[in-house]
Amino acid sequence: MTTAQVLAFLRQCADMTTRIQKDFITPATWEKKDKSPVTVGDLAVQTLVAARLAEQTPDVPLVAEESVDVFRSEDGPRFLEIVAKYVQPYFTETVTSEKILAWVSRGKNDDSLANASKFWTLDPIDGTKGFLRKEQYATALALIENGTVTLGFLGMPNLAGLAGDAPGCLMYARRGEGTWLGSLDANATFRQVRVSTHSDVRDATVLRSVESGHTNVSQMDILVERIGIPNPPVRMDSQAKYAVLASGGSDLMFRLLRADLREYKEKIWDQAAGSILLEEAGGRVTDLDGRPFDFTQGSSLKKNRGVCASNGLLHDVALRALQECGC
Ligand code: AMP
Ligand code: MG
Repeated sequence: MTTAQVLAFLRQCADMTTRIQKDFITPATWEKKDKSPVTVGDLAVQTLVAARLAEQTPDVPLVAEESVDVFRSEDGPRFLEIVAKYVQPYFTETVTSEKILAWVSRGKNDDSLANASKFWTLDPIDGTKGFLRKEQYATALALIENGTVTLGFLGMPNLAGLAGDAPGCLMYARRGEGTWLGSLDANATFRQVRVSTHSDVRDATVLRSVESGHTNVSQMDILVERIGIPNPPVRMDSQAKYAVLASGGSDLMFRLLRADLREYKEKIWDQAAGSILLEEAGGRVTDLDGRPFDFTQGSSLKKNRGVCASNGLLHDVALRALQECGC
């Protein structure tokens, strides 16, 4: 499958999630087993991407965040009907419930497929809470081969100012070939991006989650002070943070562990696409202990703790401060 083919269906996903967000059906969310929210957008994107991958790369398994469980709830059938309505315009064939169930369940969100030598990983809507707030979210797709992320894509329908004036952009990277950014326009030309050249902490800004429950806010304040950064952290949802770092719009990003969830392990679909985009743009990403991500551990980064991402130049300073602060 070519890069252009992936970009084409990611544009369709952006178009679809933008429509879903505009309509904002009620209820906007359903609850998953882990109590986190899931929207029509999550399932509609997983349907569309899984269908395209099944067609183009039938032998490559898909490790994806969502599962068909949500369709088994009391109002699951209504949910399925709404998903069908939103995905239908992107298919020539009639999209039946059976087809949606088959496509969505091509994606497994456990360890069963993630040990294959080559597999896709998908977060259909990374930053679901940002999506609900009509702020930042990303469709994140990456290819992992023998433990290395070799290809990564982010579709960010609400991210403005990176590629032209209109909101929305796509970013991709193939290992060894740099990181490329373009608008959602079908005829967009892509330009290569690089991380910032800031090496002085006084020029730096830090990115963190909007959701306090996804990081450790009090520790973040201590850390930023310890590094010596005068500016307060900028809050943004999803892997759009990686895109901003990769294109030089910020300098550091942390995922610190919540005091009550020290054992939290990052999901591969939350880090794979973003990490290759950053690395290919000249940046660096490790866990909080300075270890590279180990993508051979199934659907989560079991051998890592949290995230430290940077423009490369400020990485060692950041790791030292993390250690000093006991993060
Ligand atoms: P962000 O947009 O940076 O807040 O990150 C969103 C991602 O955080 C979601 O995709 C979740 O998988 C992930 N997440 C959920 N709970 C936690 C947690 N306790 N610690 C770290 N990440 C989490
Ligand atoms: Mg996510």
